[in-house]
Amino acid sequence: MNRRKTGIIGGGASGLMAAVAAAEKNGTGDEVFVLEKKERIGKKILVTGNGKCNLTNLSFPLDRLGEYYHGASAGRLQALFSRFSPEDTCGLFRKMGMLTVSRDGYVYPLSGQASTVLDTLRFELERRKVWIRTECRIAAVEPLKRGGYLVHTQEDDTYRFDRLILACGSPAGQKGREGMDGYAYAASLGHTVVPVQPALTALRCEGDFWKALAGVRCQASIRLMIGKTQKPETFSEYSEEGELQLTDYGISGIPVFQLSRHASFALAAGRRVRAQIDFLPSFAGKEGEYRKLAEERISAFRGRPLEMLFCGLVNKKIILALLKQNGLRIQDTAEQRNEPAIRRVFSGLRAFPVQVKGVNPFSAAQVCAGGVPLDEVTDRMESRKHPGLFLAGELLDVDGRCGGYNLQWAWTSGYLAGRG
Ligand SMILES: Cc1cc2nc3c(=O)[nH]c(=O)nc-3n(C[C@H](O)[C@H](O)[C@H](O)COP(=O)(O)OP(=O)(O)OC[C@H]3O[C@@H](n4cnc5c(N)ncnc54)[C@H](O)[C@@H]3O)c2cc1C
Repeated sequence: MNRRKTGIIGGGASGLMAAVAAAEKNGTGDEVFVLEKKERIGKKILVTGNGKCNLTNLSFPLDRLGEYYHGASAGRLQALFSRFSPEDTCGLFRKMGMLTVSRDGYVYPLSGQASTVLDTLRFELERRKVWIRTECRIAAVEPLKRGGYLVHTQEDDTYRFDRLILACGSPAGQKGREGMDGYAYAASLGHTVVPVQPALTALRCEGDFWKALAGVRCQASIRLMIGKTQKPETFSEYSEEGELQLTDYGISGIPVFQLSRHASFALAAGRRVRAQIDFLPSFAGKEGEYRKLAEERISAFRGRPLEMLFCGLVNKKIILALLKQNGLRIQDTAEQRNEPAIRRVFSGLRAFPVQVKGVNPFSAAQVCAGGVPLDEVTDRMESRKHPGLFLAGELLDVDGRCGGYNLQWAWTSGYLAGRG
């Protein structure tokens, strides 16, 4: 009997999950091959979640996926995640021997080590006798007229596969043009590729005050405003709240990461991107209360240094920057003459204006937005252009929020492709 062969290009999260699912399914002696170009598989898994790997998230409202994922339609994603959900991910990892822990829905391996996730996948693939070839540089992917695919390597080897899964990931977290191969293979096989942009990354901003603010971490709410046209200024708006990090070039931290894909696409399209930071988000919706607090402090500290008036409201570095922007110094005395400027400092604490000039490069991004549109594959992740070709992971145009949602997409799409 002829053994059928499944080839998987890319030994990352989605490719390894596809290999597990394909090997789990066949049991008929069919063979599964993983071709990985790096010296070892799953390198990116090791750096996820700061080395702890936030592998999925149990807070996963299937009816509101549009709030968690971009690129594809919420309805389409719902259909796919219903077939392999975060609970299925936890269940499968448990079956493979890995214990998990959930913190407010954020799921990690119990060991607290991302390497456990990779080890678990590796052991399972070993057990199921999946062939893994590393340092395999692919020269071309060739569809055969009578079905199947030839994969030619730069080392002059040729593999013939009955089914081929492309799981090459994206350039996120990689240097230079590394990570673009999958898009090239998909395009060579007739797929569309939505140009990719860095997402889940920091924003680079105008201004000479960032060096002085670097190192500040604080709770804040950030409003991102994207100009729809140059004039008159109409804009779309997105906001996020969480721990903001100020760096020597701009803003970072989870809430900024969540907003970055919108800034990425807008800047690439030449649109104007601004942000407004509310350093006192606990006053949101309590504008009267905030105004009262400001006026009380202005009158209580009249005749005393501004350092006292603003003491303890937010990190002192932010106060110093705002005072400077408004022509004040910390040692100045609060008096009637400078009250308008003092009020502007109070306003600045709630609406600190920021001009965004760029996003960090792919190497400093966690994911990529863009890729092959999801409607070019079936619910089995099979290409609508080439039967027997499957696509999985970030190669497809699906990017999720921070918090385990991107790995969940890799597991879901990888699993479905492997089963397909
Ligand atoms: C720093 C960082 C932290 C992250 N933290 C989290 C987190 O905690 N939670 C979360 O959900 N997501 C996280 N992500 C995102 C998550 O890691 C990715 O979404 C996920 O790994 C994508 O899986 P993938 O299989 O599509 O791609 P990858 O995991 O990138 O795998 C693709 C594989 O294909 C290989 N490859 C590429 N081209 C070829 C070729 N031509 N031939 C052979 N092999 C090839 C690559 O070397 C790679 O091994 C993080 C990302 C980064 C960069």
